[in-house]
Amino acid sequence: MDASLKPSLPAQPRAFAFHVGGRAVRRGDRDWCVRVSPAHGVEVTRVPACTAADVDAAVAAARRAFAQGIWSRLPGSERAQVLLRAAAGVRERFEELAYWETLETGKPITQARSEVLASAGYYEYAAGVARTLSGDSFNNLGEGMFGLVVREPIGVIGLITPWNFPFLILAERLPFMLAAGCTVVAKPSEFTSATTLMMAEILGEAGLPDGVFNVVTGYGLPVGQAITEHTDIDMVSFTGSVATGQRALAASASNIKKLGLELGGKSPQIVFADADLEAAADGVVYGICLNAGQCCVSGSRLVVEEGIADAFRDLLVDKFSRVRIGDPLDPATQMGAIVTEAHQNKILGYIRSGVADGARLACGGGILDGDGWFITPTLLEGVRSDMAVAREEIFGPVLTMTTFTTPDEAVAIANDSVFGLAASIWTKDLDKALDTMRRVQAGRMWINTTITGGPELPIGGSKQSGNGRETGVYGVEEYTELKSVHIALGQRTPWVQ
Ligand code: NDP
Repeated sequence: MDASLKPSLPAQPRAFAFHVGGRAVRRGDRDWCVRVSPAHGVEVTRVPACTAADVDAAVAAARRAFAQGIWSRLPGSERAQVLLRAAAGVRERFEELAYWETLETGKPITQARSEVLASAGYYEYAAGVARTLSGDSFNNLGEGMFGLVVREPIGVIGLITPWNFPFLILAERLPFMLAAGCTVVAKPSEFTSATTLMMAEILGEAGLPDGVFNVVTGYGLPVGQAITEHTDIDMVSFTGSVATGQRALAASASNIKKLGLELGGKSPQIVFADADLEAAADGVVYGICLNAGQCCVSGSRLVVEEGIADAFRDLLVDKFSRVRIGDPLDPATQMGAIVTEAHQNKILGYIRSGVADGARLACGGGILDGDGWFITPTLLEGVRSDMAVAREEIFGPVLTMTTFTTPDEAVAIANDSVFGLAASIWTKDLDKALDTMRRVQAGRMWINTTITGGPELPIGGSKQSGNGRETGVYGVEEYTELKSVHIALGQRTPWVQ
């Protein structure tokens, strides 16, 4: 299709089946989770509201597949072939994937297209790692001993993903799990399950054996909870809010399963006076408007040097006014909708609370007339670190502005948060950039850019932003377990005399 044309809404909602043991499961007796497009206010998809019994069936299928070794014991080169064919399938169906992603999330179609294409690269990268994954050997234990460290897939993984980047977050995790040889039971957000279910089809067509990837749709309670509590799941990878992450952590005690958590953020954008201010302002605007600020790594806390604060604010206000916000199916749109009406109200409540606490509304704070839920890009200036708008994750297009006078103060403000997911630094002084990078607590950092990435580097957070790392070689290793082996050589010295 011509990428400059605006696709239309579907003639009727699309109903999906869930996916267990290589089969699309359709049952008439099931309740549905109905998704209304957050930008258009009409029903676009529905998925089955599964039960804990469905989770049991999916886990049994994943366990069977794992135990049979039809995936876990394949040579890495064969796993790689499947992942490469899956990547090709994503590229072939990228328009369709981007279309349904946009309808369910409300994100601009151009953004959805680039996320889908970027996702294909994660499957390709993981295919490479499947062939290079290895253990270790120890030839330094003396003449009578040899050591091996054998890397094995961890087993059955529960994968719980949120609504903000359904396909990309899946791509940052699933191919790495598959590359390691694991089998998976996924639960996407009930708002945004379509593209995860389509990925199950694509993987099946690519030759993934039945039962290796299963998708159970429905609500966090009971489906997500059943996954985190399940005693036959070896690891859970959870991405979402801190509160639900804490529940997952508690539930993981059931069988001491490993837990990978990527939770919230309140990421600082530190702008020094010597930065290229045009570029920095453009980056800061992008960093808070991308996905309408519903992004765990949104640069939502501007920490700007006092001397340039007023000029920088004026640059931001001008650029915010030029962000094209509206119908996400229109290829000209840069910023789309807020995920639900309840979330829109939560964001508006935060803006009101910031003003009540003494911040000034420099721009934004409004909603768009008509169907759907949209919030205009918002800048709150004069924000102190103790205000709720500076401390809590708003998850919307709301930027807070706080000033500093010394680099030490900038670092102190940046680190004054329970989160440690990401941070950006804008300066032309390399020494200052690297010194600040070393002192700021965050799992991901950008210097003179923001929210860029790819499969090569690991991602994840420190402090309450989570633990564990996704992507990169480290990302595959997260889904493996190490087994150490001592091998005695030569004649044994008797212990029993
Ligand atoms: P949640 O943390 O509730 O949802 C994330 C995922 O967990 C969804 O698939 C959800 O399912 C599932 N889930 C819900 N309850 C449970 C449970 N008891 N056990 C296991 N899984 C469960 O996030 P919300 O969607 O409610 O968003 C709330 C806030 O979380 C946002 O405003 C934002 O601040 C933050 N957030 C952060 C994200 C990030 O990328 N770090 C992503 C999304 C949200 P279901 O949707 O079906 O309830």
